[in-house]
Parts: sequence; structure tokens; C-alpha cells
Amino acid sequence: MPATILDGKTLAAQIESELAEQVAEFIQNNAHEPTLAAVLVGDDPASSIYVKNKRSACERVGIESRLHRLNVSTTEEELLELIADLNNDDDVHGILVQLPLPTQIREQKVLDAVHPLKDVDCFHPENVGLLVQGRPRYLPCTPHSCMQILHRSGISVSGKHAVVVGRSEIVGKPVATLLAAKESHLGPAACNATVTLCHSRTKDLAAICRQADILVAAIGRPKFVTGEMIKPGAAVIDVGINRTESGVVGDVDFAAAKEIAGAITPVPRGVGPMTIVMLMHNTLAAARAQLA
Ligand code: NDP
Repeated sequence: MPATILDGKTLAAQIESELAEQVAEFIQNNAHEPTLAAVLVGDDPASSIYVKNKRSACERVGIESRLHRLNVSTTEEELLELIADLNNDDDVHGILVQLPLPTQIREQKVLDAVHPLKDVDCFHPENVGLLVQGRPRYLPCTPHSCMQILHRSGISVSGKHAVVVGRSEIVGKPVATLLAAKESHLGPAACNATVTLCHSRTKDLAAICRQADILVAAIGRPKFVTGEMIKPGAAVIDVGINRTESGVVGDVDFAAAKEIAGAITPVPRGVGPMTIVMLMHNTLAAARAQLA
């Protein structure tokens, strides 16, 4: 039987309408709009589209967004000055620095400079530390999307074997942390997985993937996960976004995988749309943390 398609776009629309109600209530109680400052350095077309999509989502849920567009030759010092200004601006609750930054700027230095309370991407070491200790302030957007998709699709991860392929700071490591957590704000079915975290040096990756009840692919290689790497009935979350000549594809060979998996996210319309909604979620949480 073909897999259930986990439609992230529909779920994202549902969560957006829930958030719009919460934002309206917040504004009524606090007489302030939650506000996100987006910082875009340079004119990378993909980054410009991401920022535009994030600002459109803000508009739909009632969050105010401000765009700070800087020239590609901006120095690290100039960018750090802007971050300091935004940190000190009481009307700004969340700061989003769109990556990648031009090569003359050290990304880590800039991300570390964002005030932890305004760090809606959850990249600051303080917020990463809290997450790892099981007392998160904010949840990183893409890993949170993966957990929300599983949760809202009624797929329990508790006691299951979850295999995460990819160990980046943005996706792989934090999604493994959330899967293995003792508790979750989403309830007892959204934590306590037994997690294997794989990467480019993992030996016999295919055999490990075949053991996965929950398989998360965050690799950045088109159709890398083949049908033979999937356990029949597994839930497959494909985080990959790869631009190819035939359009955007994920890290999983969707056509083959959907004949074997029990449930699978498509690309596009999977994790991507949910990630933006989780940024809105964090911006509201940041406004609550600073105002309520
Ligand atoms: P990174 O390049 O930072 O990390 C890729 C990871 O995959 C690394 O840990 C790497 O291992 C591992 N890897 C690479 N090749 C192999 C291999 N042959 N076998 C096993 N593991 C391998 O990527 P990101 O985590 O930032 O992104 C991953 C994908 O997710 C990309 O396609 C990106 O576009 C997409 N993405 C999607 C988002 C969304 O909202 N849907 C958000 C963020 C990212 P090693 O550490 O050993 O090098």
C-alpha cells in the first residue's frame, strides 16, 4: 500500500490560523504587535525569496516585520552594529539573520551577537545549551517542524528507533536532540525515541537506515535515500531542498520511497512550509518572553 503523504503545506496553514488567533489575543492584551526584524545582506536570489516568504507569513498571522537590507560589501563591524541596535530596540522581539552571509563576515560571530531572548532561530549557544539540557527556551525551526509533522499526523516516536542522517547544527543535531528528549511540549508521543545520528563517515548507512521506524534525511544530496534504505512501514521525513534541472527535489527518492514507507513528507510541500510557521511561533514566544 502506498505511503500516507504528510502534507506540510496543509499542516502549516492549520498552524498559521491557530497562530493568527494567538497573535490577535496577544496584541489585545499587550497593545503591542510581536515584531520580527529580518536582516538580509547582499542580493542572493534564494535568500531574497526566503526572506520575502517569511515576511509574507508574518503579514498573514499579524506579526509586524521589518526588513534591514544591507549591501553585499557590508563589513562585519557594520553588521554587528546593526545587531546591537536591534538588541537594544524594545519594539523588536525577534531577529532573523538570513544565511549565508558574505564571506568577509563570520557567521558564528554575528549569530552569537543576537540577544538570546531575540534569537528566534535558536542558534545562540545559550539557547542551544538550554535545548540540549531539556529545558528549551525556543525550538529550532526546522527540527520543530519535523516533530510537529509527526505529532500532528498521529505518529508516535516514543520507544521507536529514529535514524537521523546529517549532523548539522541547524537540522541534524537538534532534531536528534528533540527525538531523544525525555519530555516534549507536544506530549509523551513526541519524545523518547532511541536515536542513531548518521553522517558522511557512518559505515553501512543503508543497513542502519533500514532499521529506522522514523527516518529523517537532512543531507543536501538529491534522492540520496533510495527505496532499499527504507524499512517497510517507516515514517520518512525528508528535510532536503535540492535545486536540480528537473526542479526542487528532496534527499529521498520520493517515487521509490512512497511504495515502501508507511508515511512520507513530499518535497516541496513538506518540511519547508512548516519551517516558516515555526519561525512565527518563535517570534510570538519571544514577544511573550519580553512583554507579557
Ligand atoms: P549541511 O551541509 O550542513 O549538513 C549535511 C549533513 O549531511 C552533514 O552532517 C554531512 O555529514 C551529511 N552527509 C553529507 N553527505 C553524506 C553522505 N554521503 N552520507 C551520510 N551523510 C552525509 O546541511 P543542512 O543540515 O544545513 O541541510 C541539509 C538539507 O536540508 C539541505 O538540502 C538543505 O537545503 C535542507 N534544509 C531544509 C530546510 C527546510 O526548511 N526544509 C531548512 C534547512 C536545511 P558530515 O557532517 O560528516 O559532513
